[in-house]
Amino acid sequence: MNHAAIRAQFPLLTLCQGDYPLCYLDTAATAQKPECVIAAMDNYYRQQNANVHRGSYQLSASATSAVEAVRDQLVSFINACARQEIIFTHGTTESLNLLAYGLTPHLTAGDVILVDSAAHHANLVPWQQLALRTGAIVEPIALDSQQRLNIEAFKSQLARNPKLVALSHVSNVLGTVNDVAQLCQLAKHAGAITVVDGAQAIAHLNVDVQTIGCDFYAFSGHKMYGPTGVGVLWGKLSELEQLTPMLTGGEMIKTVSFSGTTFGALPHRLEAGTPPIAEIIGLGAALEFLKQHANNDSHAHEQHMLQLLQQGLAQLPEIELYGAHSDNCGAVAFNVRGEHHQDIGALLDQQGVAIRCGHHCAMPLMELLQLSGCCRASIGIYTNEQDIQQFLAALKQALELLNEDF
Ligand code: PMP
Repeated sequence: MNHAAIRAQFPLLTLCQGDYPLCYLDTAATAQKPECVIAAMDNYYRQQNANVHRGSYQLSASATSAVEAVRDQLVSFINACARQEIIFTHGTTESLNLLAYGLTPHLTAGDVILVDSAAHHANLVPWQQLALRTGAIVEPIALDSQQRLNIEAFKSQLARNPKLVALSHVSNVLGTVNDVAQLCQLAKHAGAITVVDGAQAIAHLNVDVQTIGCDFYAFSGHKMYGPTGVGVLWGKLSELEQLTPMLTGGEMIKTVSFSGTTFGALPHRLEAGTPPIAEIIGLGAALEFLKQHANNDSHAHEQHMLQLLQQGLAQLPEIELYGAHSDNCGAVAFNVRGEHHQDIGALLDQQGVAIRCGHHCAMPLMELLQLSGCCRASIGIYTNEQDIQQFLAALKQALELLNEDF
């Protein structure tokens, strides 16, 4: 299938904003949804709506098998070893909180937790909270002058035998890609539990959790063309078994009496309450979409789009780029010298261009870069050259306006 046909599957991308076609360059915040995802959720509510895992009737059995089939799809999508390793959550944030809470009994005062300096707050704040509960110490893993993770500094930090290492696979601000396989190997060698936040990688890279060799990998459905409200925590079975459930109640128990409760088996032990059924089914459709369309060609296309963005921006003398490398993934971060990032966002919005401006839930990274915030343009499988041209033309127009003497 050619690229135009892939793009045509995303109804929202045909919208206009005033006189301009909508130019959506905020996929890193949330991706647009193909028709098949919208249809799958619509179909569930029209044809299949029932609660799962309590099926004395056919409708419930059908909803249950639809949900459990998505668990199987996920096993093959990330090359997990077993379906019990796939825990449904409401998103990356919940996945990482569930993990940090679940590990509480395994950390003690003085344990070191190393966290990527470019981490999204979702992969930092839960570790800080874990540290507050246990007396552990959270330390940043430094970046080098190119805004990539500093491997030499990391190696020397590993000499202190950290208890846990939390990494981003892809930075949601800069788009820089960490070699998580190498980093996890080093961290495992030092005896650390390894956690990878894959929110920005899952839709753009081939994610194989066994090749990466981490203990846990977290991601959200909505960044991979699926709906909001669903996410995944993948973990090695032996590691997941160790986690104390953060949520307790229905679905996750084996027996309950007033004298005590026993918990059920994985994966349900970590999935208390009614799951986001329609969203899981929508995620299943997104996985099928990716299976059909995400391949070497689409990856090369995305890479080309990102490079056009980076090169177009680099040609403008007013622009300052942050951590832009040709092997980055999905996003480019920049500022217009002397201008506030929010003003740039507003001027682009007036021309139909949607980008994100602010601290991007990465305030420690902003502090390192000595910025109050920045602009970020990000792409998806549907981004085309017209998008990049519209963005660059709108930016030039904004620069002209800002340069006018009032
Ligand atoms: N980590 C990264 C790298 C992200 O980009 C995001 C979303 N911006 C999150 C975590 C949090 O994901 P969610 O809001 O879907 O829980």
